[in-house]
This record gives sequence, C-alpha cells and structure tokens, in this order.
Amino acid sequence: MTLRVRLAILLLAMLLPFAGLSFWQARDIYADQRAHAASEALSMSRLIGYSIDDYIESTEDLLVFVAGSEAARTGDSAALQTWFSEMLPSYPHFMNIIFVGSDGIIQAAGLLPEDPSKPVDVSDTVYFQRSMEATGLAVGDFMLGKISGNPVVHVCYPVYDTAGARTGFVAAAFSLTRIQDRVMDLDVPSYMNATVVDQNGIVVARSADAEQWVGTDVSAMFDLPGMQSEPEGTGEITLAGGRTQLSSYTTAAKVPWHVRCNVENTHVLQEVQASIERQLSVSIPLFLLAFAGFLWIGRDLDVMHRHTRRMALSDALTGLANVRQLEQDLHRAISVADRTDRPVSFIMLDLDNFKQFNDLRGHRAGDAALKAAATVVKDAVRGRDACYRYGGEEFCVLLPDTDADGAYSVAERIRRQIADSEVRLDDGTTAPITVSAGVATYPANSNTAEDLINCSDAALYRAKDQGRNTVCVSDRTPGPHPIG
Ligand code: GH3
Ligand code: MG
Ligand code: MG
Repeated sequence: MTLRVRLAILLLAMLLPFAGLSFWQARDIYADQRAHAASEALSMSRLIGYSIDDYIESTEDLLVFVAGSEAARTGDSAALQTWFSEMLPSYPHFMNIIFVGSDGIIQAAGLLPEDPSKPVDVSDTVYFQRSMEATGLAVGDFMLGKISGNPVVHVCYPVYDTAGARTGFVAAAFSLTRIQDRVMDLDVPSYMNATVVDQNGIVVARSADAEQWVGTDVSAMFDLPGMQSEPEGTGEITLAGGRTQLSSYTTAAKVPWHVRCNVENTHVLQEVQASIERQLSVSIPLFLLAFAGFLWIGRDLDVMHRHTRRMALSDALTGLANVRQLEQDLHRAISVADRTDRPVSFIMLDLDNFKQFNDLRGHRAGDAALKAAATVVKDAVRGRDACYRYGGEEFCVLLPDTDADGAYSVAERIRRQIADSEVRLDDGTTAPITVSAGVATYPANSNTAEDLINCSDAALYRAKDQGRNTVCVSDRTPGPHPIG
C-alpha cells in the first residue's frame, strides 16, 4: 500500500469523528425541533379553542338576553316568534333561533317548519336532554336541524318564568361553517393541520380538506378517552396507514370540544436537513482541502519513499542492484524454478588482482574499473537476467530458466568482453582488467539459495587457482534436501 493510499485512509478515518459529531448535533436539533413544533401546535390549538369559546360566548350573550326577556319569561310565543324571525337575518350563521318548552315542543322559531300548524317535537334530541339537565349553557351534538335540515349544533340557555320555574330553553342552531370560518381565519400554517372534534369524536371543522373530513368519526385515531381525561396534551399520534405525526391538543372551555393540531414530519426534518447542509457546506470543502493536501504531500512522500527504496537496494558506485536486492530476487527465482521445474543459474564474478590494480593506479582508477566492468556485465546479459554488485570487486548474475551450459556461455562472454575492454583512466591512459567467474546451477549443483552462491563461489576459487581470467562451472552435487 502506498503512502498516499495510507494517508487517504487515515483522512477518511479522521472523518468519522466529524460524522459522529454531525450525527449527534442533528439528533439534538431534531429533538429541539420536535419540542418546538409540539409547542407551536399547542399554541395553535389554544388559539382555535379561544376563537371557538369566543364565538360560543357571543351566542350565549344573545341567548341570555333572549331568555331574560319579558316575552320568554312570560312564555309569549307569538312575541318571541315575531322577534326571532326579525332577528334571524342579522345572524347569517344561525340556521334558526328557537324557544323550546319543557315538553320538547318548539314554541317559537325564527325559521318556521313547512307546516307551521304541526308541532315540532325535539324531546328526543341530545341538546334537549342536555339543556333540560343543565342550569346554564348547554351544547348539543352535531346534527341535522329538524326544521332547517342543515348540519347544525344547538347552543341552549334555560328559561325560567317570573316565578322562577323552569319553562324550557332558547336555542341557537348555528352552522358549522362559522366554526370552519373561524379556523380558516387563523391561518394555520401549511405544515400543520388543525381539527376540531366534538365530544363524540366527530370532526366539526378542519383547517384543510374540510369537505372530506367534517362529519366523520375520528375518535379512534385521536385517542378520545385520553383527550377527555386531560384537557391539554402533546405527543405523537398514529394516523390511518400507520404514519405518525407530532400532535398537540387542547379542550375548549365553553363547549366540550377538542382542537388537535398535527405537524407534518417533513417540517421537523427540514430544519435538521438545513443544519446538516450547513455543516456539510463547511466540512466538505475542509475535507477536500485536507484531501488535496494529503495527496500533494503524499505524492512527494511516495517519490521519496521509492527513491529511498531504490537507494537501499542498489549500489551507489555502479548503479547495479545490491546484495539485498539479490536476496529477494534469488529466493523468488528459486520458488519459480520449483514451480515450473526449470533450472536457475548463478554466476559469481571477481576482478583479478584488483588489490594490485588499486595499489598501482589508485582508488579512483579502481572505481573507474569497477564502473566499466559493471557496464560490461549489464550489457552482456539478457533482459530476464539480473546483475548485481555483490561486494568489493565482485559481481554476480542471476539467470532464471537457464542451465549450466547457458550460464557458462554468458559467463564466458562477460569474461571475454572484460578482458577485451580497456579501462579509461583520468589521465587519459587506459588499463586492462580481467575477471574470473564461477557458475553454479539450481537444482543441479545445490538445493538452496545460499548453497547456490557457495557453489558458484567454490567454482570461482577454482578459476582463480587455474590462473584467473577463467570461467569454471561447479561440479558439485547437491546434499540432502533441507527439511521444510
Ligand atoms: P584476486 O584476483 O585473488 O581476486 O585478487 P584481488 O586483489 O582482486 O583480491 P583481494 O580480495 O585481495 O582484493 C580486493 C580488492 O578490491 C581490495 C580493495 O582494494 C579493492 N576494492 C574493493 N572494493 C573497492 C571499491 O569500491 N573501489 C576500489 N577502488 N577498490 C575496491
Ligand atoms: Mg574479491
Ligand atoms: Mg579479486
């Protein structure tokens, strides 16, 4: 793995804490946003609740006034009848204003039934029962008015006669569109929806898609028992289809109605997303900058690393590979030979009488001779063969896939070319050099890398013994194969 790759991995690893931090921050923001949205939904619910109470209160004021009137207290149905029919047009959201006797029969109505002679009995209605049980304001359930035929809710107030006896109640049947209008007037934000439900969980008004929802029963979805036991609350509700939404509710004071506001999850997530985007807009350029920097420095480090490696594995004087490189190459060549069942040969070369050469001509001349010999060796071998400076004035050649005969001819060629060459010295003169060589082959002469070198060394000594400027081939046979 190159240094550059390692640095890149390090940098990516450094990103992890950043990512972790962003994650925790996003979590905090998400929690804050949820709390904020829940309280916003509660405020909106309260506003709608106040608005409904305000409306019911104004209706109550009117009913209190009517119930306390002379005509109501004396049970003057005719006077009430005239009064109601005159009053009704001024209250466009009232479908009717009625006076109901204790027996449940409508005594006077702003809007008369089709056949005024037929008595209209409302004793079976919820609003009648509630009002007759109440000592003050009573509100009926959402229903179709018996006279108007429209969806209405009755707000009722008791009537007592001059002697203080209960004689019935006055009621205003108001259209739910008034409540709907009030909800719409409050401009509920688009990410929120507000629903008003009565005590039975029937939708009375809704900030969005009112036509679809008003009149439907949502008691199961809205946890009606919970809403009835606690006047206010915030939490999460599960909508039809299993989707959950943040939700807050409150209960109106004048009517047993609940207002629930739900917040779209996307709204909560939007702020979290915005925060992540803000962080990314800083961290991505920072990361890219660091990444580019790392690559830049990494490239130089890689170059330096390769240079150092080359230096460590090569010889400074001749530029040939050195003995460290030889060790690696030799072991690799031997394992390839084992796999392919092919021979590997090795030539050890040693300049003849080189001490004398140095003594006679000086070390600079000796160095020049070494360089010249290296050039000859390098040029004499094939592309697949590799040559090395083994030490002092010794060179060697590794010849994969070559038997003793092949290696001998290479060694012989080197010997001859060196003998034929003249080393050019600083003073312009030239000097002859010669070399002796020992050739050994794996596995013919040896069965280990180390032994192969020893065999070629032994052959080299023989060449020296035979008068130098000679090539000798190892005649050894390998010992027992090492275990392992
Ligand atoms: P032989 O023919 O038996 O090999 O004799 P030789 O003199 O070559 O062998 P010996 O081992 O006695 O001497 C080797 C000499 O090589 C000794 C040293 O002066 C010389 N030598 C080794 N390395 C270098 C080098 O890097 N530069 C120079 N100039 N001389 C070197
Ligand atoms: Mg030597
Ligand atoms: Mg020598």
